[in-house]
Amino acid sequence: MKITADTESCVSSGQCVLLAPGTFDQNEDDGTVVLLTEEPGAGEEEAVRQAELTCPAAAIRLSGA
Ligand code: SF4
Repeated sequence: MKITADTESCVSSGQCVLLAPGTFDQNEDDGTVVLLTEEPGAGEEEAVRQAELTCPAAAIRLSGA
């Protein structure tokens, strides 16, 4: 699994950080998503899939398995 997060479309809602804090963080200034890793550990893959589904801006994209 590989992740991309589009900071241009991110609306700083923070759902991704709540769901998968090992993969996502938020910019201290404007709250936009900060990708901590492009390849989450196996233990967080399901949470990352949930983040993709619940992101209100569709800013998170997953590729690969
Ligand atoms: S869930 Fe989506 S809109 Fe919200 S902070 Fe994460 S990437 Fe941005």
